[in-house]
Amino acid sequence: MPATFVHKFDTPVFKGEVSVPLGLYIDGKWVDGADGTTIDVINPTNGKLITKIAEGTPKDVDLAVKAAQRAFDTTWGLHAKGADRSRLMNKLADLMEKNAETLSALEALDNGKTFKWAMRADISHSIACIRYYAGWADKIFGQVIETSEAKLTYTRHEPIGVVGQIVPWNFPLQMMSWKIGPALATGCAIVLKPSEFTPLTALYMSKLIDEAGFPAGVFNLVNGYGHVVGQAIADHMGIEKVAFTGSTLVGRKIMESAAKSNLKKVTLELGGKSPSIIFDDADLEEAIKWAAFGIYFNHGQCCCAGSRIFVHEKIYDEFLQRFTAHTKDLKVGDPFDPDCFQGPQISQQQYDRIMGYIESGKAEGATVHYGGHRIGQEGYFISPTIFTDTKPNMKIVQEEIFGPVCVVIKFKDDDDIVAQANDSIYGLAAAVFSQNVTRALSTAHKLRAGTVWINIANMLYPNVPFGGYKQSGIGRELGEYALSNYTAVKAVQVNLHIKL
Ligand code: NAD
Ligand code: MN
Repeated sequence: MPATFVHKFDTPVFKGEVSVPLGLYIDGKWVDGADGTTIDVINPTNGKLITKIAEGTPKDVDLAVKAAQRAFDTTWGLHAKGADRSRLMNKLADLMEKNAETLSALEALDNGKTFKWAMRADISHSIACIRYYAGWADKIFGQVIETSEAKLTYTRHEPIGVVGQIVPWNFPLQMMSWKIGPALATGCAIVLKPSEFTPLTALYMSKLIDEAGFPAGVFNLVNGYGHVVGQAIADHMGIEKVAFTGSTLVGRKIMESAAKSNLKKVTLELGGKSPSIIFDDADLEEAIKWAAFGIYFNHGQCCCAGSRIFVHEKIYDEFLQRFTAHTKDLKVGDPFDPDCFQGPQISQQQYDRIMGYIESGKAEGATVHYGGHRIGQEGYFISPTIFTDTKPNMKIVQEEIFGPVCVVIKFKDDDDIVAQANDSIYGLAAAVFSQNVTRALSTAHKLRAGTVWINIANMLYPNVPFGGYKQSGIGRELGEYALSNYTAVKAVQVNLHIKL
């Protein structure tokens, strides 16, 4: 029997006892991993152990796939009415709502994001996402296609089957919700792996999924390391589709594994190096706040982070001075302090990676205009950091840093900015700040990015698709578009009276 983590929160923003099952959730039961091993769960504010979770193995992935297939063939998939899937999903959303503070507190403890922002962004968005897809569950249908009066031809959008879902650590619950929402709505059965760095909310969610009353095997959770459990999911012959969010490097491996195994369908949400473009006719005060939110929100650990800030030369000096003052005012510290905007980075590895990029920026001749150093004596806190005097080929301009680090770059005119902004292997998002609608929209249309924000940044809705151009990924999550990731289209042709 797997253990349970019981924790008493006594913080300014949340008080209460929380219990989280620490096993794997397979076929509606909590179990230990096949090898009986565990993974340490670390608190990023101090580097100390929170608890240990059961570690899954490829054997456990096998068991989970079998359970999922069984559910798909009997109680789920085409055997469960859309209205019934919808009712269960709405029940899950109700339970998430009832436990929203608990989920936020677990996210803050495990990931280091602030309780306040977890509540406002992660948890509320996750609930909205599950409700949105609950609404779709009984509205999935094909088309009737005119071919000949002697025939009836139609399509069915059938659930694709057993799906694998691999989730990162930056938005643990939210990325899980983006993935299970469309999968459950369409009737797919799931084998999900949370990030080994942030498993606690996924474990708590599994408890809520159980409580909501989904049939056994519809949702299975296998904790584990990426190169073991993640790899086993990508390789598995019984999985029809894999959805992955994480690094471009691992995204490539997933595609390769899919190609080498059963050609499972792949969707990838990968990295970014998104531009924020500030024209000289922008509302400067608002542009400064949004550009700062664009890069510093979630400690810079957003795939869509606006890490390249391009400013028109006429307003560059004023922007930089006021943007720096705004940056200085962001309080970094305890995620449970209601005044903090920024907590620690997720792990020692990410801390080292980000500091490595800061060193490389200095070595390549850029100027650290603000920050660039550790904050405090323990944990993985890094000061918000602004680089200036960069060159286009520098690593800090080209590569995803995934921390609170931005480069502020001058541009001359509309053509110059489109060329500079598109000079990236990535194309996830972009933000444009201008009061001139023609200029803003013309620029937006020329940017090679899956999302363009105008006079705003980092805003997502469950009904608006999200995904990348270029090496930022393949496919779209959220919105109606995501449903097609989880359905297979079958064309049925009926002969009414054609004789051969
Ligand atoms: P990662 O890609 O290694 O991890 C993401 C998920 O993939 C985790 O669940 C992990 O266990 C799993 N995984 C790792 N190796 C795997 C494999 N071989 N097969 C299948 N699954 C595997 O990301 P990371 O190492 O934690 O972070 C590194 C960088 O990735 C970050 O600095 C950032 O640039 C990027 N990243 C992007 C996002 C995003 O939202 N796009 C999220 C996290 C990290
Ligand atoms: Mn953690």
